[in-house]
Amino acid sequence: MHLIVAEKNISARRIAEILGEGKKITENRDAGVSTYSFGDITTVGLRGHVVEIDFEPGYGNWRSEEFTPRSLIDAKTIKVPTEKKIVTLLQKLAKKADRVTIATDFDTEGELIGKEAFELIRAVNAKVPVDRARFSAITKGELQHAFANTTELDFALAAAGEARQSIDLMWGASLTRFISLAARRGGQNILSVGRVQSPTLGMIVDREKEIEAFVPEKYWQLGLDTEKSGETIEARHTHGRFHDKAEAEGARDRTKEPLLVTDVKEGTKQDRAPSPFDTTTYIVAAARLGFSAANAMRIAEDLYMNGFISYPRTDNTVYPATLDITGILKTLQGSPFKKDVEWIQKNHRPVPTRGKKLTTDHPPIHPTGAATREQLGDDVFKIYELVLRRFLATLAPDATWKTMKILFVAGGEEYTTTGGQLVEPGWHTVYPFSEAKEVILPAFSTGEKLPVKKVTLDEKETQPPARYTQSKLIQRMEELGLGTKSTRHEVIAKLVSRKYVEGNPLRPTLVGRVVTESLEQHADTVTRPDMTQTIEAHMQLIKESKRTREDVIKESREMLHAAFDQLEANEQVIGDDIRNRTAEEMNLGKCPVCGGMLAIKHMRGNTQFIGCSHYPDCTFNIGLPMAQWGFAIRTDEVCDKHQLNFVRLVRKGARPWDIGCPLCHHISSNKESLSEIPSMTPALAENILAHHIYTVAELTRSVPEELAKRLSIPAADAARLVTEAGTMLEKLRRRSECRKFLRDRLIPRKGRSYAKIMESLKGQGITELAGLAHAEPEALKAAGIGEAEAGQVLADAKTVYYGQVLRGMGIPAVSLKKYLAAGFTSPDAFCELKPETLSERTGMSLSTVQKHVAMVCKALDKPAPKKVPKNQTEKGRKELLTIKGLTQPIAEKLILAGVTDGKSLLAADLKAIAKGTGIPEQKIRDFQTLFKKKKDIIQL
Ligand SMILES: [Zn+2]
Ligand SMILES: [Zn+2]
Repeated sequence: MHLIVAEKNISARRIAEILGEGKKITENRDAGVSTYSFGDITTVGLRGHVVEIDFEPGYGNWRSEEFTPRSLIDAKTIKVPTEKKIVTLLQKLAKKADRVTIATDFDTEGELIGKEAFELIRAVNAKVPVDRARFSAITKGELQHAFANTTELDFALAAAGEARQSIDLMWGASLTRFISLAARRGGQNILSVGRVQSPTLGMIVDREKEIEAFVPEKYWQLGLDTEKSGETIEARHTHGRFHDKAEAEGARDRTKEPLLVTDVKEGTKQDRAPSPFDTTTYIVAAARLGFSAANAMRIAEDLYMNGFISYPRTDNTVYPATLDITGILKTLQGSPFKKDVEWIQKNHRPVPTRGKKLTTDHPPIHPTGAATREQLGDDVFKIYELVLRRFLATLAPDATWKTMKILFVAGGEEYTTTGGQLVEPGWHTVYPFSEAKEVILPAFSTGEKLPVKKVTLDEKETQPPARYTQSKLIQRMEELGLGTKSTRHEVIAKLVSRKYVEGNPLRPTLVGRVVTESLEQHADTVTRPDMTQTIEAHMQLIKESKRTREDVIKESREMLHAAFDQLEANEQVIGDDIRNRTAEEMNLGKCPVCGGMLAIKHMRGNTQFIGCSHYPDCTFNIGLPMAQWGFAIRTDEVCDKHQLNFVRLVRKGARPWDIGCPLCHHISSNKESLSEIPSMTPALAENILAHHIYTVAELTRSVPEELAKRLSIPAADAARLVTEAGTMLEKLRRRSECRKFLRDRLIPRKGRSYAKIMESLKGQGITELAGLAHAEPEALKAAGIGEAEAGQVLADAKTVYYGQVLRGMGIPAVSLKKYLAAGFTSPDAFCELKPETLSERTGMSLSTVQKHVAMVCKALDKPAPKKVPKNQTEKGRKELLTIKGLTQPIAEKLILAGVTDGKSLLAADLKAIAKGTGIPEQKIRDFQTLFKKKKDIIQL
């Protein structure tokens, strides 16, 4: 068997489809992993890296005395499988293979992924020949060429990737651990530091400081409007910016009619067609269409995997001579851009444009297949169109502009205006994404006199440098050699997810800034780009086999040790500094009760709440959902009413949950329960809020006499309020128990909201377990719960609820278990069934059962079951079974609920029986009617 190993499942499938064209392709699934076979060939996809490097066991404990953060620098690393199922399958296939071809992506990362696969294969099959296929697009031509010309794995290239992995792990783990421990932060609150991440953050922080330090200067601009052939023409003073107001005003006042044309200059300007896309210029162009860097890369990778564009991670801006441009154009004729393609075929420039960077790994990004909007969806199609049109533009002729510059003089003051007209649109014909705009001026001649319609003097201010947008930052990172074409957008996404930066354009958060400044002060190698640049240069030397991986890692270790010398000497200062300056980031504003500072508190075990700085003197607090629902942070927005910062819950991979003003939220989420207290009037509700009582629980804790004084209400009213609050609190406890019960049982699923389910059940009067235990399946169905699930939930509810009731009546837990296991969930059964039956079905002794029956019936205030002769029971059952539609199982249920014959059926309390048996009320009423009719007939 010839095994082909691709980087991802989707590329494995595409490779099989293309290489096996015309043959039958069989997809097999083994433990959830697909393989694709045709003839003697099988393809399998990895999931990128299927192993990762980690420290040897023992380094996991952050507080270990032995393994300090610095010890991570020299710690030995191991490779651990991260995708066990794929690893197992790969090795199983490798044992059977007589040839293996590695067909992962063609770059450093792909080479390393290929080498990882190679090592896994070698571990189980020492002899199988392994070769490497390299291609830049998943298209027929590229693949056929690559598989006909396979080469060896490039171990030097893979070694560069491995060195990067080791160095990133060593820097990231040791520094993150050091800084987090120094600042006493753990769990979700750690402060991450990274080799590329920290210098990038440093740039954003530097820019913010420049903006803050910027002092705007006033300046004035002078312009005038004139008119020619009915058209208004704007001209500006040739002086440009005036920094002296008086000077500008003088020039304005001297500007008098007529406006004399002193010179007309006409010329032409060549407008070169754009050069081919590399990753960075592509990201910048996509950003203009509104795509974030990460999104643009995700879509491009998707298009690549599906064979529509070439590999999107490339530094190359020159098409290689081997690129079949004519062939590509022919393919693109099948796209919705047929007309543009044909225009290029007729009007193309002699040679395509070229950019400044020439590399040999991949061609610039270009289209490789025809796709339609229906196939791709709007967003992906937009990107496809961008890449396709850019490709066409690089083949199109340059554009030509006719330019015009007019000079005027008015009262001795000089003015000018310029115009531009596209006379040869060239590449603009096929590429509408550039910003060039035409300004067409009418014809002017020297000596011509024109009117001055208006003179305007605008006061303006110099602007601070702009914050980085994502695409600007990526360009700047590239200039500085920070990261690689594959990682830059990921680094930015990480800074955002770690809450070091926010917004677009990007600005640093307080933590981002504090961490950067601390590192800058004590170990600036970590935040300056130089260190990272040096390492990138070393990577290049490894690729060229001029240095070894071990050698480069060793040098990096030394750099890091030097940084730790400084850091460890200042540990106390760094920790205090970060802690003092970041405490502020959790402050929300004044405590409504005592005026202290309210702040978000994160405790151990995922608990978080908002508390007051005057605790324990002030116990005011606002509960927050557990941190697994989202880590609470402060936002910049402030409540108009309470002057408190808003709170947001953020969770990785989930949309943030905005709580808004915590006090508004607190008041509104307690409003309903407070209003349910019987003696609560709207006026009283206002009154307690005004006195900073927000919850039912706070009312129950109040001493009635003090409460009366505080609220200025009669003592008796206050006492009643406290008692009623106690009852309400118990009700709330039961409601929350019911919510938890449902939450534990309903599997979370997309499009299913607990809040909606609870709301619907509440609308049907079901808020507590007791209600749920007696609910109809229809009620749950109405709330959006499926039939099978509803049945299970109701059965569980009965068991749990009646279990609680029976426990409350004094049945010991052990016995209770036996009753429930035998299917006796209702306390009523104890008073209606014979103790002998209970004893027989549960296996407990008759005397024990009788004791329990006595306890339950006493609690229910019902007589213990009468002894009913057996033949009478049988007679009753037969009587019930004569009713049409009343089947054996229904009869059993009715008997269990105390309806033992026709007579007791007619006398039954419909509601109670329906609840006890789960048979709808209407159905029981029908049985009653049918039985009555029958009885009447017999009596006739
Ligand atoms: Zn307080
Ligand atoms: Zn508020």
